[in-house]
Amino acid sequence: MLTPLPPRTTRLGPLEIRRLLPVRQRRLIGPWCFLDRYGPLSFTDEKPMDVAPHPHIGLQTVTWLLSGEVLHRDSLGSEAMIRPGQLNVMTSGKGISHAEETPRSHSGVLSGVQLWVALPDAARHRDPSFEHHAELPRMDVRGADVTLFIGGGSPASAYSPMVGAEARVREGTSLPLDGSFEHGVMLMEGDATADSVELEIDRLYHAAPGLDELPVETQRGARLMLLGGAPFGEQVYMWWNFVARSKEEIAAARADWEAHRFGEVIGYEGARIEAPQFPVPAEANPAS
Ligand code: MN
Repeated sequence: MLTPLPPRTTRLGPLEIRRLLPVRQRRLIGPWCFLDRYGPLSFTDEKPMDVAPHPHIGLQTVTWLLSGEVLHRDSLGSEAMIRPGQLNVMTSGKGISHAEETPRSHSGVLSGVQLWVALPDAARHRDPSFEHHAELPRMDVRGADVTLFIGGGSPASAYSPMVGAEARVREGTSLPLDGSFEHGVMLMEGDATADSVELEIDRLYHAAPGLDELPVETQRGARLMLLGGAPFGEQVYMWWNFVARSKEEIAAARADWEAHRFGEVIGYEGARIEAPQFPVPAEANPAS
């Protein structure tokens, strides 16, 4: 059974986004802990994507585009342009900083998805790394053109059982699922009815473990994102750009960013993002 999760609209600098995860009703789908959907939009002189240098710990950022291009730079010295059909995966491990922006030379359109994956305890203290994958496994699944961008044979590094895929459905199909995973499905373009639920565009639907396949019907064709994973089984604590296990870890990461201990992003023109105030509860005054 698919359960709709209500999105909320917010802004990322000049860019309007729909935040589909986390929402009050659901914090995680497998290890997936964050999903922002932006676009489609057209522009001329503006720079709709302009996210200044900021830090991450305890997660992977997963960038997937439907149209346009985004330039990634990070504190390891990575510089990578991503285009539709390609994948950027940045594994923060114990800490990295990065910036993402619309490149000076661009196609004037932008539509994409920004995802985070929570790293399990065994992987969250590793050294940071960045991967750009221009080639990903694509297969025809019963009338759907499926690109696996993480898990299920994708070359992208994954640290817990998961899947992330885009499915272009031409006509009715049934997508095979791992029944031990919970899943999220999002209709990004076109129309679709999945598991007898008529999907609203850019809305995330959750399915609990136990679903072995997802029947999809479409009239005009559909472009779907499918996310899944084994129920994460670890309590995560998310604040700002950090995924941790405690308030103390968050406070330490914030202090590290304040002290410029995440390294510098070379090549981004402009100031970095300062951390918001962390609401640490006041210490009780010793009795005097
Ligand atoms: Mn980021």
